[in-house]
Amino acid sequence: GSADEQYDVVVLGAGPGGYSAAFRAADLGLKVALIERYSSLGGVCLNVGCIPSKALLHTVAVAEEARAIVRHGISFAAPTIDLDKMRFYKEGVIEKLTSGLAAMAKMRKVTVLTGVGRFVDPHHIAVQPAEGAARTVKFGSAIIAAGSQSVKLPFLPQDQRIVDSTGALQLPFIPKKMLIVGGGIIGLEMGTVYSALGARLDVVEMLGGLMQGADRDLVKVWQKKNEKRFDRIMVDTKTVSAEAREDGIWVTFEGANAPSEPQRYDLVLQAVGRSPNGKNIDADKAGVQVSDRGFIAVDKQMRTNVPHIYAIGDIVGQPMLAHKAVHEAHVAAEAIAGQKSYFDARVIPSVAYTDPEVAWVGLTEDQAKAEGIAVEKGVFPWAASGRAIANGRDEGFTKLLFDAQTHRVLGGGIVGTHAGDLISEVALAVEMCADAVDIGKTIHPHPTLGESIGMAAEAFEGVCTDLP
Ligand code: FAD
Repeated sequence: GSADEQYDVVVLGAGPGGYSAAFRAADLGLKVALIERYSSLGGVCLNVGCIPSKALLHTVAVAEEARAIVRHGISFAAPTIDLDKMRFYKEGVIEKLTSGLAAMAKMRKVTVLTGVGRFVDPHHIAVQPAEGAARTVKFGSAIIAAGSQSVKLPFLPQDQRIVDSTGALQLPFIPKKMLIVGGGIIGLEMGTVYSALGARLDVVEMLGGLMQGADRDLVKVWQKKNEKRFDRIMVDTKTVSAEAREDGIWVTFEGANAPSEPQRYDLVLQAVGRSPNGKNIDADKAGVQVSDRGFIAVDKQMRTNVPHIYAIGDIVGQPMLAHKAVHEAHVAAEAIAGQKSYFDARVIPSVAYTDPEVAWVGLTEDQAKAEGIAVEKGVFPWAASGRAIANGRDEGFTKLLFDAQTHRVLGGGIVGTHAGDLISEVALAVEMCADAVDIGKTIHPHPTLGESIGMAAEAFEGVCTDLP
């Protein structure tokens, strides 16, 4: 390739981390190239992650609501399901967003290089397109944003009826009986979709409960509402083997809630976590250290051990979330441009876009207990929310955790419809060191679900006698 193709910044990978870094760097006046192996920008999140899953979740949520509205006096005929149209809608959503990204790259004069990128030395990356010769580009700085892929359980056979999240998002068919291996957010979101389409679910989780990371009181509300979707919720249980037969995938379990006989499934979704792509980019040729598991360690400015090479997003560690990748991307691009940017976010919100949604941010109650942090809490049950009752969905609650001395907000959790949209106020409160009075005395519009956050703060203020 031509040796004089040179950029201030080369970004490797065009997911939320990569495109955000490229755009910010370009906005700061740097000459930028963005390398992506696929023709479509957006990475896992836009193509096979956040966005298609939410498109499908939206579709089935409307269908389920239409079914439930009979209780409110309006009834529809039984729904018919057209998987082709569902896929078409989802693909349209992706296409809108990824083509928007391509336009934004063009507008900013970011050069998109399509092909697999690998380091050649500390200042060069070779880009190998699907066809034709590789071209080598020179960089002043590089940002590694190569993301992650789903973990494959080695003992599961190769079979079309065993899929990861990417396969499940393709909606190959509606299984009568589906197994979700791994009770985390991704598995439970996909389970929500398939269950709404008519599948019976089993879930198996090695740890003691589903949706690890969230407080148990939040998860309990979700679980109560969702129990009817499941035949078996196998926590403290392992999947040990599987056999692909003509009549289905037969899976054997071991542990506290394992059935003694192998079980038959029409579709098996493996959702046991994601592993970083650090091993596939020849990082060693640039001198960048990669851990055994494929993670790349960085400092607060997202610098790797090689000072002019940065890394961001899933490849630098947990939590593997798009909004974390975007935030890190901005830090890296600004640091390269000479700004004093650091990753100093106190908290990163988590959301399970299940039905109801479960969202949490900052300190959790379980964590406070485990670490002996003295907290007080304010709780507002949605059974007392006019809006939640009017919506016919009053099963949720909103919880805020306060420092026992200063009454500053340390975290919070919400379970209920739209919890993911509501949690931002709690994140802002933590970032701004707001206390119970700040939130409780802020006038929230009535009647809204967001009001429940003000009410939770007031519930605490009401019992609290030594307000600062
Ligand atoms: P990625 O999005 O993984 O992008 C990396 C890019 O680098 C890819 O496009 C890849 O093709 C490219 N690449 C890798 N190696 C090379 C190479 N050598 N050469 C060229 N290109 C390369 N997160 C949320 O915050 N909210 C959600 O609702 C959510 N839902 C999810 C649902 C599912 C089903 C899944 C799987 C994930 C979900 N996530 C969600 C996680 C989210 O997708 C990731 O955290 C996010 O995509 C990480 O961004 P990234 O930029 O680090 O990497």
